[in-house]
Amino acid sequence: MNYTVQLGDTIAKVAYKFKVRPFDLLLFNPHLYSEQSYLSPGLVIHIPKIKMEQSNIVSDIQLRTEFGQMDLEKKIPDLKELGIVVDIIGYSVMNKPLYALSIGSGKKEIFYSAGWHANEWHTSKFLTQYIEELALHQEKGLSWHGYDIKKILQEVRLYVVPLVNPDGMDLVLQGIYEGHPYLKEVLAINKGMRRFDHWSSNIRGVDLNHQWPAGWEIEAKESPQEPWSRHYSGKAPLTEPEAIAVHQFTKQHSFAYVLAFHSQGQVIYWGYRGMEPLESKEMVGRLSLASSYTPIHTADSDGGYKDWFIQETGRPGFTIEVGVGTNPLPIEAYGEIWSNNCILALEGLVL
Ligand SMILES: [Zn+2]
Repeated sequence: MNYTVQLGDTIAKVAYKFKVRPFDLLLFNPHLYSEQSYLSPGLVIHIPKIKMEQSNIVSDIQLRTEFGQMDLEKKIPDLKELGIVVDIIGYSVMNKPLYALSIGSGKKEIFYSAGWHANEWHTSKFLTQYIEELALHQEKGLSWHGYDIKKILQEVRLYVVPLVNPDGMDLVLQGIYEGHPYLKEVLAINKGMRRFDHWSSNIRGVDLNHQWPAGWEIEAKESPQEPWSRHYSGKAPLTEPEAIAVHQFTKQHSFAYVLAFHSQGQVIYWGYRGMEPLESKEMVGRLSLASSYTPIHTADSDGGYKDWFIQETGRPGFTIEVGVGTNPLPIEAYGEIWSNNCILALEGLVL
């Protein structure tokens, strides 16, 4: 049969949908070069008829496919069903909703965020799956890795923004194509290249973790001076709608501390120019024990979200760098990220 590619599709996701191997799609579609080839919306591909033993079919979509805005949106009805509150805190440059998920009835507010960088989809998948599992354990009254979820969620309210940069992440997962509203701009920024594995900015070429008014000028001076696939700070702090939305959301709450998830190096950054409170050190020690990730005081950089949070509130902020290797990490890296970070994110609820 033939299948017309939809927004959000990748080779791994289509293969999963039709219960064939990604490899089979390549065999029957000579125009697809490798499992990393982009599937542009509207492209017609042939789905081979292959009778596979049930036991051979990859059954766990959670572990074997990428994750983007469409996947998050597909999950939302299930999340609501579990009692997770779903809010929209703003819209991306391309007008995609930015979702905040929340759970728990406690007074202490905690904030986890992910998907800041376009080529870090593992972090978005992780936080979405994590809050869903939290809700399942709460509903059933089960403990999880020894943590009493029901009791914890009576003491805290956890807010999760799993995907800060949906336009950028979709670009990394699906490439650029005719009809994409930023086709011209993106190709100009990318010097005509049509691969986007290295792209971490938003769709206008601004790095959303370089946008924060905490030493912004210093960081901007040492970074690219025009829109770029990464590290461009923008013309001023907080010019991009995604950063503005998280800024407003943070200001509207009184978070005891924040964890921002990225995916480069299996380390945890916990300081900012000595402005972090004393308890940050003890807290990072506990997060490190839970994940086996190494605590590092600072990366000698400015302008990041956790930098701004620490400077603005005097409260603890952490950047968690899950995984190791070149972004985007391979699909297979998700297993390690899931197991190490579940416990870290649980310990994060009781710091
Ligand atoms: Zn990052």
